[in-house]
Amino acid sequence: MLGQMMYQQLTTSSLIKHAANYHGETGVVSVETSGGIENSNWKTVELNARKLASALEKLGIKQGDRCATIAWNNRRHLEIYFGVAGAGMVCHTMNPRLHPEQMIYIANHAEDQVMFLDKTFLGFAAKLGEHFKSVKHYILMGPRDEESAAMVDGLLFYDELLETGDADYQWPEIDETTPSSLCYTSGTTGNPKGVLYTHRSTVLHSIGGNQPDGLALSAKDTVLPVVPMFHVNAWGVPYITAMAGCKLVLPGPGMDGESLAKLITGEKVTIALGVPTIWLGLLAAFESTGLKPDTLKRTVVGGSALPPFMIAEFRDKYDVELIHAWGMTETSPLGTINQLLEKHLTLSNDEQAQQRLGQGRPPWGVELRIVDENGALLPNDGETQGDLQIRGPWIVDTYFKSKASALTEDGWFDTGDVATLDGDGYMIIRDRSKDIIKSGGEWISTVELENIAIAHPAIANAAAIAAIHKKWDERPVIIAVIAEGSSVTEEEIIAYYDGKIAKWQTPDKVIFVDELPLGATGKVLKNKLREEHGNCLIG
Ligand code: AMP
Repeated sequence: MLGQMMYQQLTTSSLIKHAANYHGETGVVSVETSGGIENSNWKTVELNARKLASALEKLGIKQGDRCATIAWNNRRHLEIYFGVAGAGMVCHTMNPRLHPEQMIYIANHAEDQVMFLDKTFLGFAAKLGEHFKSVKHYILMGPRDEESAAMVDGLLFYDELLETGDADYQWPEIDETTPSSLCYTSGTTGNPKGVLYTHRSTVLHSIGGNQPDGLALSAKDTVLPVVPMFHVNAWGVPYITAMAGCKLVLPGPGMDGESLAKLITGEKVTIALGVPTIWLGLLAAFESTGLKPDTLKRTVVGGSALPPFMIAEFRDKYDVELIHAWGMTETSPLGTINQLLEKHLTLSNDEQAQQRLGQGRPPWGVELRIVDENGALLPNDGETQGDLQIRGPWIVDTYFKSKASALTEDGWFDTGDVATLDGDGYMIIRDRSKDIIKSGGEWISTVELENIAIAHPAIANAAAIAAIHKKWDERPVIIAVIAEGSSVTEEEIIAYYDGKIAKWQTPDKVIFVDELPLGATGKVLKNKLREEHGNCLIG
């Protein structure tokens, strides 16, 4: 042997151990489900995570067993993330906004042994418990309370359970390819599919996603993940903040603009992460309350397309940099993040904002390509649209319990998004392949149509869908919600497209509705809209 470097497994327990050893006093602030703010730190979170791991082992839970959570972003949820995975079990985060049938399907498919519940969601256990076939223990995430105990037979209480755990418990050596967490896709068609992340994929995602031109979270940051911990591991923020030693602020159930505005100013948050609808609420709350986010430097937005006005609004009113990112449950989720290159620094504010509108570039670890319907490679010219494919060490290969790989023959994952890529690797999502409108053989981007409609001052929200058309196969129709206190006509909205888009791409019709149907992750359910309005042009 010529020599050798140490070989250590890349595990999530190494992240929390690092946080406890080198950032132990750094705060973990948590909005309690019962209200009020609780202050903890990384040292206590790590101790509790170890005690939890030990307590679960004493309950008979084995390595590889799935432990479900139905919970907000809070301190106990964080401890469960690390405690469960650190012991070699799998933390399965469930999305409480799913339909009950989907929750039953998911819990049974995952064969969850344990279910941790915030008090808000105890009703699920009470109501659906008889259908959750594999669950042996329901654990309420809080201290004992008799009212809850009466709701579910044999209910355990997290705070009591912790006390049965051994404070000297040591994290076991586990292989880095062992699964650490499980998250199901939202499944707008068919049953949801499980993505099983490993310790290795999670650690590599944390390193790759947190480069200086990635999320760039540091020990000087106070980080607020508004993105739920039941949605792709809160974009990896719990792991990344442990690795970087950030102060972490967990918002609990308070996702409305006003609660967030107060939390951001009260806790001196420097960076917050979430989906565009959250930031719409926050911007409105800053206006109405007069609160100023003086410490906030950056917000990261992803999950659905960024409304174009938002960059300028955050920048000009609050001096906050808005960073656009893209990803999926299948990609852990970070696939791209939009940061400028050196050559963009001399551009004007508006030109920079234009550059930042797209979904951004892949970090190290991710490769992207676009292909046509026959799988032939398309050019990275910023104009040619194609099916977006991705590969890397934190991208899914095979769905949970599926026998077949989800990849193309040459090893790429097809995202179902339609995108352009330019020479620098900047990617712009033009559509979901199943949502795009094909009129007379030409593609029309729903994202572009929606951005124009939403920019109209009388429109609060809008979705573009393909409606069936006798001559053109499909034509665009806008489904719009009018802003409170405003009024506008269909003709005015259609006229608003003049000069902003090619004439033939102008929507044929505008239908006003009270609200858009949203899925479990806050995305507009286009399939539902198509079902309802897809025939509106053929009478
Ligand atoms: P999910 O697995 O539920 O996170 O959904 C992933 C899908 O959300 C992607 O395939 C995209 O279609 C969409 N998505 C995520 N981020 C963005 C973004 N920044 N812009 C546009 N679409 C996005």
